[in-house]
Amino acid sequence: MKIDASTIRALFVDSSLSNFFSETDLFYVDFSSKTARSCYTLRFFGYEDEDLLNIASGALSVHEADKERAGMFIHRLMANEVDSAIDAFRLASKDGSSYHWVRFSAKVVTRDEKGQPEALIGHVLDVDDLISSQEEIRNRLVEIDAMRELIIAINKSLDFEETFARVIEQLHRIIPFDRASAQSLVNDRLSVIAGFGYSEKELEGLSFPAQGIDNPAVRAIRERKIVICNNVPAEFSGFISASKDFTPLSWLGIPLVYEDKVIGLLALDNKDPNAYNDQHVRVLSSLSDYIAIALEHARKHQLVTYQAMTDKLTGLANRYGLETRGMEIFQQSIEQDQSIGVLMIDIDHFKQINDSYGHAYGDTVLRSIAQAIRAQIRNKDYAVRYGGEEFVVILPGLGSREALIVAERLRIKISQMTIDKDRKFPTVSVGIYAAIPGSLDILHEFIHRADLALYAAKEAGRNRSRVWSTNPEFYVNG
Ligand code: GH3
Ligand code: MG
Ligand code: MG
Repeated sequence: MKIDASTIRALFVDSSLSNFFSETDLFYVDFSSKTARSCYTLRFFGYEDEDLLNIASGALSVHEADKERAGMFIHRLMANEVDSAIDAFRLASKDGSSYHWVRFSAKVVTRDEKGQPEALIGHVLDVDDLISSQEEIRNRLVEIDAMRELIIAINKSLDFEETFARVIEQLHRIIPFDRASAQSLVNDRLSVIAGFGYSEKELEGLSFPAQGIDNPAVRAIRERKIVICNNVPAEFSGFISASKDFTPLSWLGIPLVYEDKVIGLLALDNKDPNAYNDQHVRVLSSLSDYIAIALEHARKHQLVTYQAMTDKLTGLANRYGLETRGMEIFQQSIEQDQSIGVLMIDIDHFKQINDSYGHAYGDTVLRSIAQAIRAQIRNKDYAVRYGGEEFVVILPGLGSREALIVAERLRIKISQMTIDKDRKFPTVSVGIYAAIPGSLDILHEFIHRADLALYAAKEAGRNRSRVWSTNPEFYVNG
């Protein structure tokens, strides 16, 4: 049967079926007689019959992102490139107040001799629910994958910074934030132990009070539950930002609980307001235990590493510390092409001290001298108990002259120390070597030379400092 424009028109407009069609999702446009019938879905969006007559000139408005595609859709039908088309768009209601995803199909039923459409029928289906649930499923899959990756990351390494970086990478896939910090709770203070989005300088020694102020972090810890705050300045007077040029408007804090004890907090900052919702809380609730385990592992690992590198009696580094951290400092000096000084300090006639006053007094002397060394050096210097009554001090950045100044200051200080007036306090001798290390140099050679200089100091009568030199005269006369 030949279907012409009048047949369609009869069906949609003149027949007893016209009422039925207007309640379905089918619409009809007859360009030749300028009649059209909108359908249920289009009318729901505010588009009436006359709007459809202008369908070729953009009478139906769609989402900005879909405009080009929708324009193409109509154009190809009108220009006789295709007779039928199907696509999905976000259709805007006529008043522009909302969008819905629709599946839109259209067919040109008849054309005139010039190929212009005479009659067109189409079908519009609201698929918004379907698309939203697809999106929801996609989001959930991303969530599940991120959680899986996160759990793997947490179990992979004992190094917290490394674990933190991995956790952040995965969290970013499911939660928006500009900054994040992992904070360890010790003595009512939260100390930041790893951060994302902070400068190194901001992170240095960064800590916050964990009680006594009107602050979301304090509340998260006290109530042991995730706290979200979508308008920080309005809700909390006591919020502390780590820097002047960044004040988060949204904040989310996850208390980290291990064996029923709050051991820290993971905080997310967002510069926008209203960034967080219950969905985020739900995801993070199932993750917080794993993050807490990672934090606890890292804390234990740090403690064990610290203990392994520390001399029990004096609290200075031990030989293992020298082999690890000491080597690192030396390596940095090589890389930065900077001088490094090494002091070798040996207590004078220490055997006599032990013999005269007992081993316990000897131990007290060792502790006091270690403390004096610590007090005289900078944070970046590294003091090691090298042997029984010998100490090595590594002084990055210092040349011979400056290292000698440090050595003398220290030696004089020790020569003035006493524990009690009845017992002698020993003096020390110091050997010094400093140079800019080359890539082939090793720390042990530096220590060896400092030791040779120490030997010269002892030879010269003890209670003095000597700098290593290729000229042996230097030992005797210096
Ligand atoms: P010198 O001026 O030549 O260095 O003489 P010295 O007596 O200090 O040298 P020596 O190497 O003969 O003696 C080192 C002493 O240090 C012997 C040892 O009993 C003592 N010593 C080593 N470790 C400890 C310790 O942990 N505690 C105590 N109390 N004494 C220690
Ligand atoms: Mg000795
Ligand atoms: Mg000695």
